[in-house]
Amino acid sequence: MAVLLLNASMQPLNVISHRRLIVLLTKERVAFLDEAAEHAAAEALAGRRLPEGVVIVRLLRTIHVPRRLLRPNRRNLLLRDDHTCQYCGHVGSAAELTVDHVVPVSRGGAADRWENVVVACKRCNWRKASHLPQEVGLHLRREPRPLTQEYAHIIFLRYPELKAAYERLLSAA
Ligand SMILES: [Zn+2]
Repeated sequence: MAVLLLNASMQPLNVISHRRLIVLLTKERVAFLDEAAEHAAAEALAGRRLPEGVVIVRLLRTIHVPRRLLRPNRRNLLLRDDHTCQYCGHVGSAAELTVDHVVPVSRGGAADRWENVVVACKRCNWRKASHLPQEVGLHLRREPRPLTQEYAHIIFLRYPELKAAYERLLSAA
């Protein structure tokens, strides 16, 4: 099971190994989120076992993370848009989905800007063709934004159980 490392500001930073967790605990760089979690982990480690379930720790001091933009390639777009057509909401496999330029390149739209590319199902893409969305009655479900590394979307998509635990944490706060 993975360990989610949060910044002191509670933003997700990374997923780390248990070995790295033990190093950070030894150096007193991280803390558990509450006493119950701290107690459970201390007990497990004392018995030379690893803590069970999702483990979340946070750094005691905030570190600055430079804003790194990912490339808006097909793979990253599928991650950003959750494999969901941004016009009709159809959720599909990668093979069923295409990349659509909101403002078509033939009409001056940027080919490689996060703000101008979205995931679309084949049906919507065909309907849209070289039109603007509003010209054919299509509407974006949300504004296309750049995907940043620190947004941690990718981390969470690889570890759905961490995403669920983090969301529970946020809703409890
Ligand atoms: Zn669609």
